[in-house]
Order: sequence, then structure tokens, then C-alpha cells
Amino acid sequence: MFGFEDEIAFVDVETTGFDPARHEIIEVAAVVARGPEVVQRFSTLVKPSQPVPLEIVELTGIDDDILADAPRVEEALAGVAEIVGDRDVVAHNASFDRAFASASGWEHPRGEAAWLDSLELARIALPRMRSHRLVDLARAFGLLVEPAHRATADVETLARLWRVLLGALDDLPAGVLAGVLGVSGGPQWPLARVVAHIAAARPQVGLDLKRLRHERLRKERQCSLKDAREAELAPVPVDEVAAEFDDLGAVGRMYEDYERRAEQVEMARAVTEALNEGRHLAVEAGTGVGKSVAYLVPAARFALANDVSVGVATKTNALMDQLLYRELPALAREMPELRYVGLKGYERYLCLRKLGRVLDSGGGSDAEDRAIAAMLVSWVASTSWGDLDAVNVHWRPSARRSVAASAAECTKKRCPYYAVCYVHGQRRRARQAHVVVTNHSLLFRDVVSGNQILPPIRHWVVDEAHGAESEAREQLSSAVSSSGCAASLATLSARGRHGLLESLRARLGADDSARERVEGLIPLVHETALIATSFFSEIGELVIPGAYGREAERITPRDREEGPWTRAAAVGWALVKRLDRIIDQGREAITALEEASEETAELRADLVGQLTALADAREALALILEGDDERYVHVVRSEQRGQAVEVAAESLLYDVGEALAERFYPEVMSVIYTSATIAVGEDFSYFARAVGLDRLPEGSLATLRLASSYDFDRQMTVYVPRGIAPPNSPRYLEDLERVLFDVHVAMGGSVLTLFTNAQDMETLYRRLAERLRSEGLRLIVQSRGASARRIADEFIGDERLSLFATKSFWEGFDAKGDTLRCVVVARLPFAQPDDPLMEARKERENRVWWERYYLPAAIIELKQAAGRLIRSSTDTGCLVLADGRLSSGAHYAPRFLKALPVSDVELVPVEELRETIAARFGRPASSAAR
Ligand code: SF4
Repeated sequence: MFGFEDEIAFVDVETTGFDPARHEIIEVAAVVARGPEVVQRFSTLVKPSQPVPLEIVELTGIDDDILADAPRVEEALAGVAEIVGDRDVVAHNASFDRAFASASGWEHPRGEAAWLDSLELARIALPRMRSHRLVDLARAFGLLVEPAHRATADVETLARLWRVLLGALDDLPAGVLAGVLGVSGGPQWPLARVVAHIAAARPQVGLDLKRLRHERLRKERQCSLKDAREAELAPVPVDEVAAEFDDLGAVGRMYEDYERRAEQVEMARAVTEALNEGRHLAVEAGTGVGKSVAYLVPAARFALANDVSVGVATKTNALMDQLLYRELPALAREMPELRYVGLKGYERYLCLRKLGRVLDSGGGSDAEDRAIAAMLVSWVASTSWGDLDAVNVHWRPSARRSVAASAAECTKKRCPYYAVCYVHGQRRRARQAHVVVTNHSLLFRDVVSGNQILPPIRHWVVDEAHGAESEAREQLSSAVSSSGCAASLATLSARGRHGLLESLRARLGADDSARERVEGLIPLVHETALIATSFFSEIGELVIPGAYGREAERITPRDREEGPWTRAAAVGWALVKRLDRIIDQGREAITALEEASEETAELRADLVGQLTALADAREALALILEGDDERYVHVVRSEQRGQAVEVAAESLLYDVGEALAERFYPEVMSVIYTSATIAVGEDFSYFARAVGLDRLPEGSLATLRLASSYDFDRQMTVYVPRGIAPPNSPRYLEDLERVLFDVHVAMGGSVLTLFTNAQDMETLYRRLAERLRSEGLRLIVQSRGASARRIADEFIGDERLSLFATKSFWEGFDAKGDTLRCVVVARLPFAQPDDPLMEARKERENRVWWERYYLPAAIIELKQAAGRLIRSSTDTGCLVLADGRLSSGAHYAPRFLKALPVSDVELVPVEELRETIAARFGRPASSAAR
């Protein structure tokens, strides 16, 4: 039974690793709870046959000394078996605990059926939680028993959490539990008994996705705004906007501990003027200026005054969420008429039609897919926006594709869910919103589509503008990938009811004229899939295999004359021809299907979608095979994704600025670009060139550079160690190891080291982790394939922890206070010399490429790295620039150092570095590594 007062067992194990065939249990705990009360307890440490690995010691605090007198695993599990008896047993990620118990000789008397997975239940009962890890759920509900990551405490935490999960399950709207049971795979799914028990006590209602959505949509209002280009626009008085930043103004009222910042007001004034005058503006605002509020207030005032929309585009989801969930709700409280909305690309939203189909097919082919389907059912009932990024699951690409909306597959008004659709609902809301927050990717995709995606927005703020060029390039370029091609062909040709063509054939009568055409497509698609596999395997061979996941190779005119590319190109053209045949025959089938029964209408729309995707792939393929369009740089890229290798052929737009000057600026009245790092010194020319602002008539662009509101000279010290070898020296790693060791020890932890090279990072981690541990310091590394968010959370969660990281931590990573007191830059962030775009620039603009692109890009990236350190007015710390070129007279060194937000840099002999840093920032290391 699974009532709130019933008796149930909980089990947790700590182990030496993840693989039950190689690793062992080192602690096990079990409790039996009756209602809220734990009535029996058992726990013990367990002596393994091998030493406990360092990372496990660090995580759990369990080491070989503590385990010296512990019992063996058989004895420990006998104790567990005794108190569990034949009760149901709950574990968080139960398959893990069960696999270890089973490998060590304990089977529950009722086998797998008795194991209930609280992780799986949490995903269904609490679908909107950002994390479903035991520790995070427990913290969120105030249930955590310390110390976490110890079986004895975790099992108590779990027993408390279980009741919360049952309560949350009971709170789900009518019909959701029926939907969950429908995709669960039947009674053999252990949690089915739990869900069925709760469902039995409630009114019996079946799942209806449309009803669930209607319930959430009931209160929306309708009133579209004007196109600014067709409206008479009234300027907003600049002084009135500035007054909003007074203590009694809107901004003053938004924050409890508000302090007026002169830089923020100056920026707000400049943004207001740009909007009023229909001019473009580039603003570099150092950290702490509060630039998001500095543009949101003028944007909101301008939009409200004129009944138009102002768009805000961000690079990262983190900033988008900050605007949508923090700043804009606070602003809307002060300006009650203000409406705002967040808008992402199709593929970010749940497609209800696809979900309906997944539910009809029983949730998917395996348990993992069914678990996700069950979670999505309850999530539909609790989300207004349908943003799949907010679903906390580890998606397999195929699982996400099976429920994600896609422009190509969307049947729009013919879709039965159109009126309640997330994607179109958001687009409708966007037409009524004064502030539309989107991402760079959708903004530039809209430019490419000729404004087919977004409402007509003529005033834009592009935040995190340092990333605008690269996102615009991604959207203005074209690519065909092995997985994308394979997915489209597989959707067409899969057997049985999962295959589009087979499903169509099954619904067409023998004398239907469309049937023959559909049947003719089936072998053609199979054949094409084989050629596609062969093409991607050929081009995959062209990329020099590397140990670090992602490699790219430029296809030069010379490659097109001889060598392996010519072989691959021959297969590529064969693929183009097959795709042409599929597209032609597919179109004939679509025409014939117009005559067929209503029953095939939806599948016909799907066929249109898949053919559109294949036509796009065909165009991208032909572009790289022809290779004569000089606007592009042609590249083959290969990337390791889990066990699979993704190969893509790309044509990268060389001059993004030119394309934006032609296609974006003529359609808008004002674009305000802003970032903490878009200028080199006082010079905006690198950025202006990158986004095409330099091609506009004189006077159409204003620039503004605002220093940080923080006192960097007081808060940050920059050290450049003198006497270390430059990166091309054989002594480089040895010297860097010394610097890193000294810095970590001097700081007593809380150090973030940023690398440009993953191989260097891993080598130095291997050399230093143990050494630092013996000093009482714990170091982690951003390992390949690991989630950057999880590593960031771990780093932020432990004040003394230090981290070695690569690219994803150079920008956007935010760790305030004592968690991060020192940033080390291991090497100046110059682009890799074999980066295809940089290579092409060097070739095409030989004399100026260094000064125009290579150097400014690296300087801006260094500024980004420095920006990680000081995140609030009370932060203090040091930046260590451990690249020997800075102290050995490289001619560009002063350019890097001058770009930093401090007036002075300390050159310190490497042998004095430790003492110097310790004297200013040192604190004793903790007595033991945790
Ligand atoms: S309208 Fe398009 S995106 Fe929305 S549910 Fe239907 S098919 Fe999916």
C-alpha cells in the first residue's frame, strides 16, 4: 500500500564508483518508516577489497582508514535484508542501488518489482523543479539531513522526501495520473502501483491535453500593438526616464536596498535618446552598472508611450530568465500596464501534437522514453510557456526531437492543438507585448526568414552583444549534419506505425492514386539513407581525429582539385541526386494525397515537413559541394557526442556585417547593442565591423563607454608572474604547474583557472590534484561531456573548492563572494591558428587580419575572463595572468594589460608570487580536504 501512513523501506548505498561490475559498496543504510515516523534503522560502513578512489573520498569523506575495521559487504547486506523484509523499498535512482545490491549478492524477495524509484517519481510529481537530485530536492523543501552524500543521512532525507512526493502527485490536475499510467508500460512498471493507488482515491477522469491547456489559458487578454514603422512615434522625455532612477522613481521602488548609480542613469539616458531619434547605439557598460535595468526602463516607457513592441535579445538563457523572472516582473509591478513575454525558437517548445502521438503509442519504445513521457504529461498541466529547456531531464536527442516542435513539421492551423499550442500561443502573446525577450538565435533567424517569425519589431536591444556576430553567423550560414539527415530519412522510412511512409500506405486504399507514389518512395529513401551514411563517413575521415571532441577542417580550393575531398564530393553529388528524386516524387505524392481521405491529412502535413527539411539539407549540401560562392568558408566538422560522432558539412558566412547591413538594419529603426566587453580600449571599430554598423551612413551610430560601478583598483589586483616560459616553450607546463600550485596554496582555495586547451588542463589536473589535496585543498576539473551547469553548481556550493575549466567558463559564469577569490588565465585566449574562419581571414586579409580580428578578439575574451572575478561591490580578489608572453616583452602585451579595468598591474618574480599573494589574500587551508 502507498498511503501516507503506510509502512515502507528506504535504502541508500555509497560506492567506489558507478559500475557494479568493477566498483564496490562502502556504506549502506536502510530505514523503515510508518507514516512520518522512522520505526527501524540500520546502517554500516563496508570494507571494500580495493582502495577508495580520491574523488569518492572527497565526495563522501569516507577513506580507507575509516573502513579498516568495517564488515564485509555480505554481512552488511544481511542487516539490510533483515529490516527491509518483503516490504516495498524506495531508493533515489533505484536501478543504481539495486544493481550494487544484486552484484553483492542481495536480491529483494520480490525482485525488481519491489524497488520504487523516487527520482522517477519526483520527475513526474514535481516536473518544474530545476534539479531532481536528492540533495537539491531536499534543500528545496527544507528536508535535508546532513551530511549529504552519506548513506546514513541520505536515507533519512529520502524517507522525508517520499511523503512530499506523494503529496505532489496527489495535487496534479485531473486526468494527469491517468495519462501517466497510460504511458507507464503497464503493471510491470513498479511505480504504477503508487500512481494507481493515488489515482484510485480521486475522480476518474481521462487525460485530455487540450483541456489541460485551456485551463491554463483562460485568463489571457487580446490586444495587438502597432508596427512602429507605421505609427506616429512620440519621444519619451529623457529627464522623466532619468527620474525613474531616483529613490522615489520606478527603479528606486523596485529594489529594497537601491542605490542610484550615475553610470546606470547615463546609459538609460543614451538608450532613451537612441530610441527617440531612431539611431543605433553601442554601449560598453562595465560590470555592476546594472545595464539590463538601464535599457529595460527606457524600452518599457517608449513601448508604453507609443503602443509598440521593443525587442530585447540575449545570448544566454540565464540572462533571458533573469529578465523574464526577475527584472521585468519587478518593473511590471511599478508599471502595471506593461506586458512582456519570452520567445524562443520552435524547437525549444513542446509540440502537443507530437506529445499526443507519443502518448498514443504508449509512451515510446523503452523505459527511459516512457519515463520522460510520463513526466511531460504532468508538466503540461503546470507550465504556461511550454519551454522544454525548463524540463529537468537528460534528453537523448531522439527523445527530445520526438516531442519538440519544429517549423518544418508544424501543421499550423490544420493542427488540432493549434488553439492551445505553446509555440503559436507565445507568438500571439508577442504581438501584444510591450517588451519581447528573445535570444540572438531567434532574432537572426527572423532576419534570415525575412521577418516571418517575430512580430514587426523596429526597436531592438541586443544584450551580451559580444556574442552577436557568432550567433548571426550561425543563422546566416548553412549546414547539413549526419544526425539531422539520418533523422529525417528515418522518420520517413521507419517500419510499422513509427514510419511516416508505412503509416500513410496503411491508410491508403488499394485503388488510391497516392498509394503507388508513397510505395515508390520507400525503397528510394532506404537507398538514400545508405548513401548519406557513406557520405558522412567519407567526410568524417577528412577531419584530423583529435582527443578533445570537436575538430574542424576547412575545405580549400586545393582540396577540391585532388585528394580525399574529391572522393567524398562524388558521393555527395550522388546524395544530392537522390535527394532531388525524393523531393520530386514526394511532391507528386503530396499532390495525389490531396484527393485522399481526411484520415491522411495529418500525415500529409508531416510529409510536407520532412520534405522541407530534406530540401534544406540538399541546398546546404550543394552549396559546399559547388564551393564557388566566395561569401562562405566551407568546413567539415566532427564532434564526439556521447558514444556517437556527429559529422557536419558547413558553409560559414565570412562577412556577417555585410549581411546585417543589407538585411537587418534597413528593416529596423534603432538597435542598441550592449555588453561589458565590446570595445578594445576606447575603440569600438572591431565590434562595429563585426556586426556591420561600420557600413551605415555616418551619424547613424553613437557609442558610449561606461566604466564599471565597482572600484576595481580597490577590489581587484592583477598579477603577472615574471620569469615563466611562454606557451610554445618545452618548459611551459612545468612553469604553469608551479604557478598554479603556488597560487592555490597562497589563496587557500576558491581559485578558478581558465584554460584554452583541454589537453593542458587535464595534464595539469593530474599533476596537481593530489599535491593540492595534501595541502588540504580540493580541486575539480571540467571533464569532457560533463554538464557545465552541474560543475558550476558544485563550485558555487563549496566555498573552498577550486576548478580547472575551459571555454564555457570564460564568460557568463557568475560566482559571487568568497566562492571565487582568484581567477588564473593559463594562456592568452588567442583563437587556434587552425580555426577555419581565422585561417580564411589570414588568407583573404593578409596584412590586417592580426590587427583587425585576431588581437581584438583575444583582448575581448581576456576582458570576459577578468569579469568573472568581481561580481558585486563587496567582492575582492586577484587575477593572475600566467602567460609568459606578457612579461617577456611581446609587442602586444601592453594592449592586453591596458584593456583591463585596473590602473595598475603588478609584475612579480615567479619565485615571490606565492608569498606576495598570500600576504594580501592568504587564508589558512582547511585542515582536511572535504
Ligand atoms: S500547431 Fe504546430 S507546434 Fe503547435 S502543437 Fe500543432 S504541430 Fe505542434
